[in-house]
Amino acid sequence: TITVTGATGHLGRLVLEELRGADVVAAVRDTGQDLGVPTRLADYDRPETLDFTGTDALLFISNRELDKRVDQHRAVVDAARAANVGLIVYTSITKADTSPIPIAPGHKWTEDYIQASGLPYVFLRNNWYFENYTANLAGTLQNGAVLGAAGNGRIAAATRADFAAAAAAVLTGKPDEHAGKIYELGGDEAFSLGDLAAEITARSGTEVVYRDLPEDEYAQTLIGFGVPEGFARALAASDTAISQGALDVVTDDLRRLIGRPATTLAESLQAALKNA
Ligand code: NDP
Repeated sequence: TITVTGATGHLGRLVLEELRGADVVAAVRDTGQDLGVPTRLADYDRPETLDFTGTDALLFISNRELDKRVDQHRAVVDAARAANVGLIVYTSITKADTSPIPIAPGHKWTEDYIQASGLPYVFLRNNWYFENYTANLAGTLQNGAVLGAAGNGRIAAATRADFAAAAAAVLTGKPDEHAGKIYELGGDEAFSLGDLAAEITARSGTEVVYRDLPEDEYAQTLIGFGVPEGFARALAASDTAISQGALDVVTDDLRRLIGRPATTLAESLQAALKNA
């Protein structure tokens, strides 16, 4: 059995699609939703609900609440160890062990804790999702600007669908095919936010520029848009890390796992523009 946590989320749903036909259980905190596969209660905040018995491969999708990450992730890994799962596959971040991005230490802590558990593991170190930049494309077009504090730093983003396909490839791999591997997953080409603005202009016909802001001003701008303060500050600090090359990591790990080139920025924008 393949068990997928975070299965109600954007990434998790795409993974379930990729795994259609396989023996899959969705481990979720709201078992009322129809996900097309059997569900099992699993709330990271309630360790007593975490039971992964019978799991050959566990996809552990990282949480979203950064301040709770260590407690929640410890509980998930402890439960995986108690159930002696065959493989634990964790969604981490680019270069988690050395990254200056402020959310990286929580991922590094989790990677270390998983390694210390003695379970066979795979780390899927996912770069940024393209969707971080296309989710509010209508607003970007309206403002005529991409805002950020990333300077000329390049980002090897990829679509959630490609990250999901990579996760599914690992989860359905032969026993021992991937155990112990650390995959640095991302697009085949990195782009700067200036490149992003130019590509949006080219694809949409609307002039969009990249406006690079000082980190604090960018954080304040995000707060003004309604982003919670802690998250806004983490995003702005992430951009400063990006300006220093934190996400400029291009490998062929993703394309090898999915057996085709990664979706390009142009393709991703084309699809997003249809919905903008
Ligand atoms: P979503 O927010 O769409 O999904 C998060 C999932 O985690 C949901 O299924 C949610 O369940 C589940 N979850 C949250 N808290 C708990 C809990 N206490 N117990 C059990 N499940 C919980 O995120 P995405 O799918 O877009 O991304 C997946 C992960 O990737 C994120 O959680 C985050 O760690 C990371 N991420 C990476 C980004 C990148 O650019 N690489 C950008 C953003 C996030 P529920 O439906 O019940 O809320």
